[in-house]
Amino acid sequence: MLMVHDLVAGYGEVQVLKGVHIHVPKGSVVSLIGSNGAGKTTTMRAVSGMLKPRAGKVVLDGKDIAGLESHEIAARGLAHSPEGRRVFPTLSVRDNLKLGAYTRFARRRARGDIEADLDRAMELFPRLRDRSAQAAGTLSGGEQQMLAIARATMMNPQMLLLDEPSMGLAPILVDEVFAIISRLRAQHVTMLLVEQFAAAALAVSDYGYVLESGRVAVEGPAFELANNDKVRAAYLGGGAAH
Ligand code: ATP
Repeated sequence: MLMVHDLVAGYGEVQVLKGVHIHVPKGSVVSLIGSNGAGKTTTMRAVSGMLKPRAGKVVLDGKDIAGLESHEIAARGLAHSPEGRRVFPTLSVRDNLKLGAYTRFARRRARGDIEADLDRAMELFPRLRDRSAQAAGTLSGGEQQMLAIARATMMNPQMLLLDEPSMGLAPILVDEVFAIISRLRAQHVTMLLVEQFAAAALAVSDYGYVLESGRVAVEGPAFELANNDKVRAAYLGGGAAH
């Protein structure tokens, strides 16, 4: 589904990614873990086209998408829910969700049944159903985070990049976010996940990569990483496994 080869990317003079390799097979969930500043968010940005890679390949479904504009990459079925809450504050919750389906129109794909997709999103995120007419900017921070994830799922993505979906959420909402990820996984949505709660992330993943200073330092099946003493000591102190 997604193959990242020798990805090099950075900002100005700073080279952040120094040749990253990642493979996300169709239907699997893969976690990127690593210390602050290791390059996790930069990897997500370079994959989704928010940042132009300087070298390397990003192959989605057999096509090299490195260097394409982010809207072109989105139209190929890759949805990115970036770090931080990005909702349209003056639009209603419902309209924010409908905008998530926009790339389907842009690509003249079969429209499918947007209303049915809305119902499905509301089922996954019942809090949003009660607030569907409310302006998104008046939701609580946690609810806005949920809306940002729900909107990414409205794209009916082939692949979903989730960057710190639990950031800034109260513990009960963190549990809810992981429950949602598990449900999406059960629906075979392919996901690349970055999470501060690395142990919880590995618990819902098939495979994991540890990034250190812009390179993959360790990789392996998620349960192996979760039980690897070095990985545990360095990265898994921050959150309990679910
Ligand atoms: P964290 O866990 O703290 O979110 P991360 O692994 O996601 O870390 P990145 O956000 O990818 O790390 O950042 C990697 C490096 O790139 C950091 O040193 C950061 O300061 C730098 N960086 C990130 N965004 C920018 C930017 N827009 N301009 C310049 N430098 C940046």
